[in-house]
Amino acid sequence: MIISIASGKGGTGKTTVATNLAVSLESDVQILDCDVEEPNAHLFIDPAIEEVITVTTPVPQVDEERCTLCGKCAEICQFKAIVVIGETVLPFHNLCHSCGGCMEVCPEEAISETGRELGVIEKGHRNGLHFVHGRLRIGEAMSPPLIRRVRSFAHPDMTTIVDAPPGTSCPVIAAMKGADFVLMVTEPTPFGLHDLKLAIEAVKLLGVPRGLVINRADIGDDQVRAYAEQEDLPVLMEIPFDRRIAEAYSRGKLIVEVMPDWKEKFLGLYDQIAQIVE
Ligand code: SF4
Ligand code: SF4
Repeated sequence: MIISIASGKGGTGKTTVATNLAVSLESDVQILDCDVEEPNAHLFIDPAIEEVITVTTPVPQVDEERCTLCGKCAEICQFKAIVVIGETVLPFHNLCHSCGGCMEVCPEEAISETGRELGVIEKGHRNGLHFVHGRLRIGEAMSPPLIRRVRSFAHPDMTTIVDAPPGTSCPVIAAMKGADFVLMVTEPTPFGLHDLKLAIEAVKLLGVPRGLVINRADIGDDQVRAYAEQEDLPVLMEIPFDRRIAEAYSRGKLIVEVMPDWKEKFLGLYDQIAQIVE
């Protein structure tokens, strides 16, 4: 089962839920941190890293000897990532989406592939918990291909917890696509409600069963709960605004480490998700 943990905005407690759920399950479980621009699950999991993989994406390079400057590559490129200027064809690798269109249309077979580094994937473990995360190269704008590579490590025989990036755009969709369940994490504030609404619209498009965790549940108001009821979005867990939880977070500790009775609550959360998916 793949459970994707998402939130409309950052700072709602998404990683707290993902890491505590993964550690509570103990074995036959993996966590894939797809928040590749700012991965932080490792700060709480503290995995032993065993493998580092460099990830590249194909981009065009032009053989000037063969090129006749016909301009067909520039015509097909929707991203202005390859242009003909005077007597030169210039590829702009940072704009390229690796669609391969320019290579297909070149009548002289003057375009071949080279690689642009997107970032790295680091794999490791903490006891029975398998860990994978991606780190986007600084300055790189294209995170979905790296997120898809992290997702490709989902093991069919394990429970997979995906820590999705915040927001509602392409990177989040790349992290949620193919999940059996999307667990949204929000806080009961007007900002939390606003971003939850946007995120739920994105999840609806994917047609995946979903549920909600309300973090810092005793601040704010009841509008998030009213919205969840209206949307038939089950509230599966509420985490209070507790000084001990905030202190644990600030020291890079898990809730289940400093308050072991919470392990049962996270296992209960998993059971509810499993029932809904079944
Ligand atoms: S691979 Fe696609 S996006 Fe990249 S330069 Fe060629 S046509 Fe443009
Ligand atoms: S399509 Fe091929 S031959 Fe035509 S300009 Fe581009 S690289 Fe040159």
